[in-house]
Amino acid sequence: MATRAQIYREVLREYDALRAQKAAELRGRKEKLYARFPRLEEIEEALSLLGVSTAKLLLQGAVDMEKALGELREKQQALMAERVEILTQNRLSPHLLEPEYECDACKDTGYAGDSPCACMKRRLMDRIYDQSNVRDVIQAENFDTFDLRLFSDEIVPEEGISPKENARKNLQKAMAFAEDFAGENLLLYGGTGRGKTFLCNCIAKEVLERGKTVLYLTAGQLFKRLEEIRFRRNEEEEAFADWDTELMEADLLIIDDLGTEFATVFTASELFGIINGRKLAKKSVVISTNLDYKALMEQYSDRVMSRLIGEYTAMKFFGDDIRMKKQFQ
Ligand SMILES: [Zn+2]
Repeated sequence: MATRAQIYREVLREYDALRAQKAAELRGRKEKLYARFPRLEEIEEALSLLGVSTAKLLLQGAVDMEKALGELREKQQALMAERVEILTQNRLSPHLLEPEYECDACKDTGYAGDSPCACMKRRLMDRIYDQSNVRDVIQAENFDTFDLRLFSDEIVPEEGISPKENARKNLQKAMAFAEDFAGENLLLYGGTGRGKTFLCNCIAKEVLERGKTVLYLTAGQLFKRLEEIRFRRNEEEEAFADWDTELMEADLLIIDDLGTEFATVFTASELFGIINGRKLAKKSVVISTNLDYKALMEQYSDRVMSRLIGEYTAMKFFGDDIRMKKQFQ
């Protein structure tokens, strides 16, 4: 696998390419507009001349600097106003001649001030944990596409509630969580195909859209990655020293399908490390599992269980297998 430094360099190159592409697009827009409205080109030239004059003034130390600069600024504003006028009169966006950014916070540099921008953190995380598939899935599985009609209306006697009513409650809970998830944790449990993973995807999409970082891993992926980190050869250690940074730093960590991995003392202890570390950092975790409390207790340590019981809001899923239902519809 690539080292973080390599991935970091790749991501910086992506930003370079992105800025180059945006600059080329701007040149293209200018070319077209200047052919249609030659005055716009004159304005650009006049503006850049004014810029040069300002620099000269500052260098020479003019007699009345304030006054001279004020005059230049006035001319500049008049030109820019004229440009906007020409564009809007022709029903064009007044911003057509301004550079456009994918991320306004960092102007596609990856850095906002001295610190890495949220978009940079997301790019790094996507690369390091290969999250591209998650991005695809959440386009289809999100709060807008959650379909309550798939759940049965019939009350399940031992639950005292219908699967549909239960799903509605879970949906509301998940929405509220995604809106303001600071420090709160969820434990989604119940049989396969009851909508847990779907709801994890809904939460991931909503939180990502709020500009936060989400690390979404199945338990299998999570422990495989941790094994790679913990048991690599000594000489590699340095290069991979901070591979698990995101596990602690992502705003939200989602562990899907806990209990399906090959459980060992290692997995139990790593799981505790993650749950505990994120609790101390006041960062949220969402866990989905097919196991009930009894099975969780058997598979993981008491320490893990006491955290899960004490600090996670449990959401039960039951009813028919909606995955099967969907396929036959
Ligand atoms: Zn950014």
